[in-house]
Amino acid sequence: MKERMNELVTLLNQYAKEYYTQDSPSVSDAEYDRLYRELVELEKAHPEAILADSPTHRVGGQVLEGFDKYRHEYPLFSLQDAFSRAELDAFDKRVKREFPSAQYLAELKIDGLSISLTYVNGLLAVGATRGDGTVGENITENLKRIKDIPLTLPHQETLTVRGEAYLPKASFEQINKERQESGLPEFANPRNAAAGTLRQLDTAVVAKRNLATFIYQEAGETSIATQEAVLASFANLGFSVNPKHLVSASMDDIWQFIEAVGAERSSLPYEIDGVVIKVNSLAMQEELGFTVKAPRWAIAYKFPAEEKEAQILSVDWTVGRTGVVTPTANLTPVQLAGTTVSRATLHNVDYIREKDIRLQDTVVVYKAGDIIPAVLQVVRDKRQQETPLPIPSQCPSCQSDLIHFEDEVALRCLNPLCPAQLREKLIHFASRNAMNIAGFGPAIADKLFEANLIHDVADIYGLTVEDLLTLEGIKEKSAQKLYDAIQLSKENSGEKLLFGLGIRHVGSKASRLLLETFDSLPKLFEADYDAIAAIEGLGSVVANSLKTYFAREGAQKLLSELQSYGVNLTYLGKKAASDSLLSGQTVVLTGKLERLTRNQAKEKLQHLGANVTGSVSKKTDIVVAGSDAGSKLEKAQQLGITIKDEAWLESL
Ligand code: NAD
Repeated sequence: MKERMNELVTLLNQYAKEYYTQDSPSVSDAEYDRLYRELVELEKAHPEAILADSPTHRVGGQVLEGFDKYRHEYPLFSLQDAFSRAELDAFDKRVKREFPSAQYLAELKIDGLSISLTYVNGLLAVGATRGDGTVGENITENLKRIKDIPLTLPHQETLTVRGEAYLPKASFEQINKERQESGLPEFANPRNAAAGTLRQLDTAVVAKRNLATFIYQEAGETSIATQEAVLASFANLGFSVNPKHLVSASMDDIWQFIEAVGAERSSLPYEIDGVVIKVNSLAMQEELGFTVKAPRWAIAYKFPAEEKEAQILSVDWTVGRTGVVTPTANLTPVQLAGTTVSRATLHNVDYIREKDIRLQDTVVVYKAGDIIPAVLQVVRDKRQQETPLPIPSQCPSCQSDLIHFEDEVALRCLNPLCPAQLREKLIHFASRNAMNIAGFGPAIADKLFEANLIHDVADIYGLTVEDLLTLEGIKEKSAQKLYDAIQLSKENSGEKLLFGLGIRHVGSKASRLLLETFDSLPKLFEADYDAIAAIEGLGSVVANSLKTYFAREGAQKLLSELQSYGVNLTYLGKKAASDSLLSGQTVVLTGKLERLTRNQAKEKLQHLGANVTGSVSKKTDIVVAGSDAGSKLEKAQQLGITIKDEAWLESL
């Protein structure tokens, strides 16, 4: 027993470190929760043997190097958890014994990371992580980049609020797709991606990643009487508050709410891992108090994990647009979180080796963050295969040697003429955010390849209606339609073409910034490294990638070919040249500025090309807020408009 307790403490502490400090868990939350419960039971039976470093007596993780420590004035807590109706009833009984009239507020348990925001006289002064509950990391600058966190409050309030920062599912998938293409390890789930993002030392990365928040708790003293009223007051202050909650004294009602939320869970745009039930009256909360780790007035019901066993039948290795070769397991079909799963990602070679995944292995499959099925671990007892999974040394498409770079987890095919890469490149080139060629999808790309009509993206523009008619299943009308769509795409503004080329690290936003600055692809081709790296929001990674791309044999040829087909290479959008940084932008000034007069600020904005107006509407692009800003700022926050301060204006 003692041995097992030792073992569990060591394991759980290691997992907690991976989860909280490294943002890279190696086991699922369900597995962690299982071991944790086992430890709780053992500690209950043998309180004399509880270890000093037991995770049951501590909150969260450690503070990372690189950030200042921040001592919380009011500590942050964990939550006691429940996995069944019976455990909720026991909680209800405990509460009602002291307060027979207690009501509960049930709200969603957002699967992100706790943040604490302190406002002094209405200004956001400090934003911090939970850390170990007493000391967290000061991540104010990063939190300021989250659009729905108000930088100022309407009535100069001084208060500390708590909430959850999270990454919407769509952004999580996008980030992982980009990481996979760049050969970087993917995040296990949106929670880890959010935590990893917020503990970035580069605030620009945070700004790019689309994090959002839900605020749910006030720390310290307040004159408000209930949790329900706290939530309402937060909404009035301009915080983002989750609209779903239920107030009731009855566990039956709460259970119904839990079931309804569970049914809706997979269609919510963000991850939740349960429902938090809190005693609604703050006075009762105070009376009920805390254990060493969690409040006695709240409990988190956690949804059962969706994990199933399946057998690996075979493994496919597919080549992506940038040459990254990704393994996917074909499985015996299993039902998981409402869908039939017969394929699961094995991520990369390092992952396969680390987990020692083999053919015919029985594995535990789960939906990472309930989105992408992934293999969690091998069930060793059921192993039949003696040899490790063969890792290809040659590209499955073009047979050239694969490379495993030291700093990457991925295998890569470096052959620029690899057909599988070309196919993916073509599909990307024609996609909506790139050249937007209607009707040009994977099926057409495959047929064009088979018919040997196409070898590179420029060849698309050499296709005739007659060529298209030779493809199987393509009739006159659709051939003409596709041809017209191809011709139309020649008129696109240059940034769509640049994005379509699929250069590493050059996404659609970077493409626009680049073409706004350099005006055309040929000029960008000539631009020097420093000029590219100096563009705000881009930096050395993009500059390096572009220089490498353009230095390649064939890049110049491709541009000339596209040009000779009449494809537009220049930027056709609105200009925001350096002397008119804000041209086309509608800006509103509000509140009291410290150093500039209102007129000076207005003149400066106009000089930079902005259209300065008096009222905030959907058409407003930026609100510059000084102190004491009132309803205009509030409205801007509601509409999700970018809010800047005087220092920003001065820095332009
Ligand atoms: P918790 O995540 O179970 O609950 C407490 C947290 O819930 C709070 O700190 C807050 O951030 C969050 N929360 C979300 N919505 C909330 C709301 N509406 N009201 C109040 N709080 C809300 O507890 P914990 O101590 O942060 O972490 C323990 C859990 O973390 C484990 O049960 C496990 O699931 C996971 N974990 C996993 C691993 C792993 O290796 N996979 C390791 C450590 C912890």
